[in-house]
Amino acid sequence: MANIAFIGLGNMGGPMAANLVKAGHKVSGFDLVQASKDAAKADGVSIAASATDAAKGAEIVITMLPAGKHVLSVWKDLVPVVGKNTLLIDCSTIDVESARHAHAHATEHNLPSIDAPVSGGTGGAKGATLTFMAGGRDVAFAKAKPILEAMGKKIVHCGEAGAGQAAKICNNMILGISMIGVGEAFVLAEKLGLSHKALFDVASTSSGQCWSLTTYCPVPGPVPTSPANNEYKPGFAAALMLKDLRLSQEAAKASGAVTPLGGHAESIYEAFDKAGHGGVDFSGIVNHLRHLTHK
Ligand code: NAD
Repeated sequence: MANIAFIGLGNMGGPMAANLVKAGHKVSGFDLVQASKDAAKADGVSIAASATDAAKGAEIVITMLPAGKHVLSVWKDLVPVVGKNTLLIDCSTIDVESARHAHAHATEHNLPSIDAPVSGGTGGAKGATLTFMAGGRDVAFAKAKPILEAMGKKIVHCGEAGAGQAAKICNNMILGISMIGVGEAFVLAEKLGLSHKALFDVASTSSGQCWSLTTYCPVPGPVPTSPANNEYKPGFAAALMLKDLRLSQEAAKASGAVTPLGGHAESIYEAFDKAGHGGVDFSGIVNHLRHLTHK
């Protein structure tokens, strides 16, 4: 069992740290928010006075923070104080460029590191069923894998530094586009007098089949567990989908990839967010689409 430092004990990090405790690891944690620290403490995490205090003596340091700037700032403070060979794992969803900078910083100090963003949301964090997409060297990945297995059910090594973040934003660009596509189909079906059930029964077993339809159906009824049946409570908030679509478009610009549908999906989620729906599940986009009119 390992000594682990966990920085960022929010909606995702809190339950992830709790699962490491359940697996028998000794976890020292830190967050800026008192309520997050209190909740983690109740789950068996010992709370340190600062991120650097949490990291002192840790064999593994995990960060789960909002954005690239937070990760770079925390890693900058931690790298000089951690012991030789301490493994740094960043599980936040951040831009590929920041992820590569963070790796480079660790490498300068001869520290192994991986980026390992997750898919599966807060339910997956609580249930230890997350999917991890990892980027980094083989040795670092091999050391991280058993730790990640205490928090998730699928761990994929995607390639070198930043490859985990690349996989995450490509996947979520598909998801954002496909959810809008499924929502548009339901809105068109309504206008054509076709029932939700009829469209679902046909498309779920035809070439229109996809996760946004069959697992996370954006209209109430066909998939009882989807957020549409629970007043579109997240799940995965539209503001987080917008964040990931923005990251995909930044990466597209930086790499020269042309992603017109990704760009359009970003602008549609931006309008939804601006209308005050950032806290709604991202499948609620169907309700935004229903109210659009031809100019
Ligand atoms: P959150 O806002 O609930 O948690 C982030 C935590 O980081 C907060 O508690 C905040 O106080 C803390 N923090 C910020 N700066 C800090 C610092 N310098 N030192 C210590 N703590 C600091 O967000 P979340 O939902 O837990 O998401 C975390 C990451 O996971 C994000 O990058 C997000 O995009 C990603 N993610 C979230 C979900 C989801 O469904 N919530 C799903 C997949 C990925």
